[in-house]
Amino acid sequence: MPELPEVETLRRTLARRLPGRQVRRVDVIRPGQIRHPAPDAFRSALTGRTFGEPGRRGKYLLLPLDGDRTLVCHLRMSGRLYVVSPEVPRARHTHVVLGLDDGTELRYEDQRTFGGFHLVGPGDEGAPAGLRTLGPEPLDPDWGPEQLAAELKGRRAAVKAVLLDQRAVAGLGNIYADEALFRAGIHPARPAGALGGAEVERLHRAVREVLDNAIARRGTTFSLYLDGEARPGDFYSELRVYDREGEPCPRCGRPIAKIRVAGRGTHLCPRCQA
Ligand SMILES: [Zn+2]
Repeated sequence: MPELPEVETLRRTLARRLPGRQVRRVDVIRPGQIRHPAPDAFRSALTGRTFGEPGRRGKYLLLPLDGDRTLVCHLRMSGRLYVVSPEVPRARHTHVVLGLDDGTELRYEDQRTFGGFHLVGPGDEGAPAGLRTLGPEPLDPDWGPEQLAAELKGRRAAVKAVLLDQRAVAGLGNIYADEALFRAGIHPARPAGALGGAEVERLHRAVREVLDNAIARRGTTFSLYLDGEARPGDFYSELRVYDREGEPCPRCGRPIAKIRVAGRGTHLCPRCQA
């Protein structure tokens, strides 16, 4: 599933393509991908609007338009959003196509169909519930170890569960939670409230480091994620534990293990992460 680095990469690539482009045509091929408003209202409200500078909150892509509207997209498991020439054959799972005034198309493709769009009006009308309750951005300069410590304090839940909670910190998913915990040397199943001050500082640093490094490599692609110009990310080869069960730990050489924490498949080095 695309996480903060992938959505940030998508934002940056669409920032080269969308600002100033007007929507001339809206093809809704699979209406289920339009979450708000109803597909007909979505089509008429979007046609004729002009895109501004793309933004992001957590894993939500925010595409502002004139007239105080914002097209919000969440890719969920397998969404792809990219600008292409209309001559490129449409991929099989293409569900929504916006025809733009320069002749290109913004296409939304989603094999597993969990993702989709909200067209948000003035005063956040129609905004998805998850966007309203999002926690702080981990790469915001104001997000310090004390903010992370406040979220972990007193919690009996596994530290990984708190990292995955979008209300505690926005944008982390299964890949980068595992990678951050490995880099910090913290076992993912530790009760969150049991972490000491030095451990919280290590974890805070590790979260930022792994997200920064992943953005620099344009995110992680296994099989499905592509950026806004339909290119895969390069971070897969930098993963130290995620998807590496049985391979040697890059720090101690013992095999990477896979266990279940917070209901999710979790990769770790049982020796390096205490
Ligand atoms: Zn190790």
